[in-house]
Amino acid sequence: MGQRSFRFRIVSMLHIGIDDTDSVKGGCTTWLGTEIIAELSEFDLICHPRLVRLNPNVPWKTRGNGAVAFTFGKGVGPKQKIGVFQNLEIFVFEKGIDIKYDKNEVIERISKLVSKHSHPDSQPGVVISDSFLPEGLYWQGVTSIVSKEMLSDAIVGTSTFGLRGSRGICGAACSLAWSGNSNNMNKIPHTWELIGYRAEDKWGTNRDISSNTVQNISNLEGVFSCNDLDGKVAMVPNSPCPVLWGFRGIKAETLIDNFQNLGPEKPDRWLLYKTNQATDDHLCFKETSDIKDGDCVLLEVSVSSKSTTIKGGHRFFMVDDQNNQTIKCAAFEPTKNFRHTIDELDVGDSLIICGSVKNKTVNLEKIKIVELVPRFSKPSNPVCKCGKRTHSSGKDSYYRCNDCGEKYDRPPPIEIKSGLELKWYEPPASARRHLSTPISLMG
Ligand SMILES: [Zn+2]
Repeated sequence: MGQRSFRFRIVSMLHIGIDDTDSVKGGCTTWLGTEIIAELSEFDLICHPRLVRLNPNVPWKTRGNGAVAFTFGKGVGPKQKIGVFQNLEIFVFEKGIDIKYDKNEVIERISKLVSKHSHPDSQPGVVISDSFLPEGLYWQGVTSIVSKEMLSDAIVGTSTFGLRGSRGICGAACSLAWSGNSNNMNKIPHTWELIGYRAEDKWGTNRDISSNTVQNISNLEGVFSCNDLDGKVAMVPNSPCPVLWGFRGIKAETLIDNFQNLGPEKPDRWLLYKTNQATDDHLCFKETSDIKDGDCVLLEVSVSSKSTTIKGGHRFFMVDDQNNQTIKCAAFEPTKNFRHTIDELDVGDSLIICGSVKNKTVNLEKIKIVELVPRFSKPSNPVCKCGKRTHSSGKDSYYRCNDCGEKYDRPPPIEIKSGLELKWYEPPASARRHLSTPISLMG
């Protein structure tokens, strides 16, 4: 019977999620994605390739804790060019219809690529599904930690493949649960990253991208995280991975129309990814008493201690929430000038703080100064009628002239203007989390 011959063939869209193929020593999951697209060239890409960042706080995260997801089908209607691999042009279709595919055969083809290109220190995972997975899985994976039970419930009916412990199956599943349109507080449903890759013989060698070309494209509207204010390049990685640069923005067209201006080194491949970067999707409103390690939080607080500096230049200070619950905040050395803002905070200042919680400390990603308490400076000691400068006789006491013994009232403190403003402050782009919305994009 006809039905029987199709028993192992699925008729639907083909959704593939992949995670944890890289390590600090090399590799890159997004590059492996380009290999998979090339391998499955008999199918069309429906929906843009997705680069999904998950909770930056999980203890076992890969470098950026980013998974990738693809949807294949038979494309219909208009298509858009979103990449070039050497001479192969990559298109995405606005709409697609179901295809027939053999799940086991697809798994086999992909597992060969993953085995060949994943880093020996990684624990890759691949999930193949005929549909998107439930969105709740994404929100759990981006804001907190996915339990084994939640994961096994979510991947019922999918096929999975993993290596060396298969930890990546969780991230791969979460990436298939992101719709590409987050409903978040900054009203940023998604952003884009156009990634340029180097030919394999150049991996591990110095990248030749001039800071001038980066500076020029960084001024384009809606483009972000290209460089720091001091000119330090943030879009070119330092690791021996295949990435030449990652060009980020809120409009795909801006990236596609301008990436050719980066150089002098040119990419051997490029591919546009839709991402949840810069969405703040990882942040949750929480009560201080409910916070646990691993959470990414947004809190309304008031400063309860001045900052102290420890060896290495890291800053720590305490804040209280509205219920007078106290929690420690940290701004580490890589946050550079952001620490100077922290130094100027005074007890009583009202803040919104965003960050991830580790060792019961909020590792700050950005702060908004909501209200500043008045700042005072001590006036200079009064001059005595004999012409000599007077001296304080102790805290809250009068001033006295040592020469003639005349006493003077303590002059009132002078209110001074704080160097801080009521606005958001953030670390430089090179120290920013992928998920954190840059202030330039905040309403
Ligand atoms: Zn005197």
